[in-house]
Amino acid sequence: MKLEDKINVISGIGTKRAEMYNKLGIFTVKDLLYHFPRGYLDYTSPVPVMETKPDENSVVCVRIDKKMRPAFIRKGMTIYRVTASDESGTILITIYNSEYLYNSLETDKEYILYGKITGNLLHREITSPYVLKADEECKIQPVYPLTEGLTQQMLRVTVKKALKALDNEIFEPIPKKYLLKNNLSSLVYSLSNIHFPKDTEALTLAKNRLVFDELLVLQLGMSLIKNHSHTETGCVMKNLPVDEFYKSLPFELTNAQKRSIDECVGDMHKNTSMNRLVQGDVGSGKTVVAAACSYFAYKNGYQTALMAPTEILAAQHYETLKNFLEPLGLNVCLLTGSTTIKNKNEIKRRLVEGKYHVAVGTHALIQSTTEFENLGLVITDEQHRFGVEQRALLSNKGNNPHRLVMSATPIPRTLALMIYGDLDISVIDELPKGRKPIMTYAVTGKLRERAYSFTKEQLDEGRQAYVVCPMIEEGELDLKSVEKYAKEISTKQFKNYRVGLLHGKMPSDKKDKIMLDFKEHKIDLLVCTTVVEVGVDVANATVMIIENAERFGLSQLHQLRGRVGRGEYQSHCILVTDNVTEDSKNRLKILSKTNDGFRISEEDLKLRGPGDFFGQRQHGLPSLKIADMAENTKALNIAQSCAKEILSDDNKLSKNENSQLRKLVDELFDKKIDLN
Ligand code: ADP
Ligand code: MG
Repeated sequence: MKLEDKINVISGIGTKRAEMYNKLGIFTVKDLLYHFPRGYLDYTSPVPVMETKPDENSVVCVRIDKKMRPAFIRKGMTIYRVTASDESGTILITIYNSEYLYNSLETDKEYILYGKITGNLLHREITSPYVLKADEECKIQPVYPLTEGLTQQMLRVTVKKALKALDNEIFEPIPKKYLLKNNLSSLVYSLSNIHFPKDTEALTLAKNRLVFDELLVLQLGMSLIKNHSHTETGCVMKNLPVDEFYKSLPFELTNAQKRSIDECVGDMHKNTSMNRLVQGDVGSGKTVVAAACSYFAYKNGYQTALMAPTEILAAQHYETLKNFLEPLGLNVCLLTGSTTIKNKNEIKRRLVEGKYHVAVGTHALIQSTTEFENLGLVITDEQHRFGVEQRALLSNKGNNPHRLVMSATPIPRTLALMIYGDLDISVIDELPKGRKPIMTYAVTGKLRERAYSFTKEQLDEGRQAYVVCPMIEEGELDLKSVEKYAKEISTKQFKNYRVGLLHGKMPSDKKDKIMLDFKEHKIDLLVCTTVVEVGVDVANATVMIIENAERFGLSQLHQLRGRVGRGEYQSHCILVTDNVTEDSKNRLKILSKTNDGFRISEEDLKLRGPGDFFGQRQHGLPSLKIADMAENTKALNIAQSCAKEILSDDNKLSKNENSQLRKLVDELFDKKIDLN
């Protein structure tokens, strides 16, 4: 048997059963070995029967005394009773329906039982326990994720057979010197012990090694992409001063903004292409950084393309950049789906001729057919849509232009290193002076009317407001559909105001129209779903009510409330929730206490783990089987330094000793990382 073999080479697996394994993502013997247990049953430390505590899970080691005759209660219900004992006392075992389990217990033989104990001080019972023969060598038994038709026992037996395949192969992707240095057990040992641990210590060793492997391979992949993306650029820029730009601004830049601009300018001045992320909380002023970089490129005779995820954001960036840059002599254009064909052609013609210095548009438009005279800088406003792969493949237009990514999702450092491992990072960790922190309150539905009255007062003063609802269709219990919600308040509480509705299922031109109306204050109150999350700037909006706030992650709530507090007025965010569990209250409290997105994301990550934190695979990272990035900071650091060491010796991972590692990298990223 070989690791690459299909699983039906394992005895006992035919075509039909193989299909069940396929459902679990298991196709080869190796896949099976990497189908890790989701937990373990630990039979290592039995206690005397009479020392067990009723209503607690316990492990006891007993000899079977007597098997009573099965009691047929009714069709489909048979009860089997067995008595057993150890030196301290006896226990009654009750088994429902499982003839198999009943038959497997033999009188006078010893077994270890695992289960919930019931009874009283003098008398112990256990119902349908997990059972292990006392002479079984593996006292810690794996519990696997299953699918219909497969049982734990089947998997255990099959995995044991598969483990034999390891004996036939030298299976060790990591060169020995790195294992020794980092105190790691061999892969063969680790795979055996992740399934059938000799003891808890062996299990820990096994886990450490397997976590390490995943993180190392991930890190290697990210580094390969990163090194590759720092290719030679044809757009080396001179270190020209940008003072005129600074002077033209109506405000003083924050130190964090200045630092970020310096870092970008420093990159563009090198002869490898910039590949940098500017990360900053909502409202931290990322756009000015983008404008400064565009100006720097312009001074050097290069054009800039800025890509936004939606039309409305593109339009907004266009306005902003125009305001900053046109007074300095730059020509800025906007290219979106709603630009008429005639205008599009005209704009494109002028771009090729170099008459426009900055082009702002949606991703699709700028990436596909647009050509530039001399493109030197590509800026993407990603908001929170990451994508390692997309970034790696991004535009090879022009002469290897510099690339700048802007993201408004503050993420903890450990995670940033992973997700943005292929980028250099600048952090804007300071808000412009004079910003008033958004006042945030969590209330129950009983106070909704008061929240409405407060909102009306603000509207009467000429301000605008948002109400955010979690979902668009009716269905789940008491979640109000946005449509119904909007209808209701627009005919009742807010009948004297202009109420608009915005949700994700609307066609995008309609969405843009509504957003524009709101921006132009043709709408006072906007009822919406999370579609407003993407950075639309309406400085006049000062209130946001968020319904069913418990449904959202903290970081998401923080992003949402970033839609208010963007102007000179004091802003408010009211979180409405009827979920008054301690957990939920504590979570929301964090938001009232701080406006610091980084702190919030740390908390969020702690509470939810990285999977939920980003939603399903939104982070664009390959999915990891065992390594939980939030908990494995130390392993992550070790993996990072090890990856560095390996690459410093073999920067494309092409040496023979690293061939297995290279294969793992390609597998994890689901495709070959193209380094040519
Ligand atoms: P974000 O980082 O969320 O994209 P923006 O770039 O949209 O933030 O900036 C938010 C607002 O703050 C804009 O109106 C912008 O003009 C303003 N702003 C940016 N930097 C400063 C600064 N240093 N001082 C004052 N206002 C600033
Ligand atoms: Mg922005």
